[in-house]
Amino acid sequence: MKKILAFAMASAMVLSLAACGGGTSTSSSKSSAPATSGTQDSSSSSAAPSGSFTTVEAGKLHMSTNAEFPPYEMLDDAGNPIGIDVEVAAAIANKLGLELVVDDMGFDAALLAVQNGQSDIAMAGITVSEDRLAKMDFTDSYATGVQVVIVKEGSDVTMDNLGEKMIGTQMGTTGYIYASDTPDNGGYGEDHVIGYETGAVAVQALVSGQVDAVIIDNLPAQSYVEANAAAGLTILEGTWVEEDYAIALQKGNTELMAAVNGALNELKADGTFQGIVDKYITAD
Ligand code: GLN
Repeated sequence: MKKILAFAMASAMVLSLAACGGGTSTSSSKSSAPATSGTQDSSSSSAAPSGSFTTVEAGKLHMSTNAEFPPYEMLDDAGNPIGIDVEVAAAIANKLGLELVVDDMGFDAALLAVQNGQSDIAMAGITVSEDRLAKMDFTDSYATGVQVVIVKEGSDVTMDNLGEKMIGTQMGTTGYIYASDTPDNGGYGEDHVIGYETGAVAVQALVSGQVDAVIIDNLPAQSYVEANAAAGLTILEGTWVEEDYAIALQKGNTELMAAVNGALNELKADGTFQGIVDKYITAD
């Protein structure tokens, strides 16, 4: 296979995951349309915000996301967004004296919302890429994303023959963008790639035989393979591409960037961030 080089952000901090950490409160509300919001954060808060940032709605931190990407964001049984990104955003909001509002929408829409100033931050396991850096700004990285290939058990698909197969991806993701690129650029060409609305739908297409493989980030991949145990799916050995996840903000929003990045780094330093990750990801 042709590997695509992940874009490494100069300022990205590789996480050395240390320590424990207390829980954080999560909250948020769900909505199915970009403009709607729900709310809340019940935790007691820490430091008052210092910078001069403003947010879309006074007193609130709007996070646009696509709650279809476990364990970073998904809906609980009651339809509320939960997950690592949601809890980290709630903890950031808490540090800034704001109440988190989660706006759940499609992945592309979540990226557009922050670019257009309809949300303050976008968190959706978003990979930092050169193309995206031209349209939005990113905080320091908070996780490494590894894309993998899901196939049916016993299939003849390998990392090396993907270019001869039909591949399912989630529309708008780097999996789609890289895989549909030309072979010269390490992709397989548009004719070999189908972009579905969500990763879950792409996996259903694999189960039903519309595609031969699905390229998607590793943690959602594990979750989808488990959720479809009866269908006999498996993840190929190896890494298709490795990337950095970061929080996206509107281009040029330097005050809010400083506040959000500062809060993120405090959460990393005091163990809160790792505590949230440990709630959702158990060690291998
Ligand atoms: N990390 C991938 C990207 O940024 C996928 C993210 C997602 O599907 N939520 O494109």
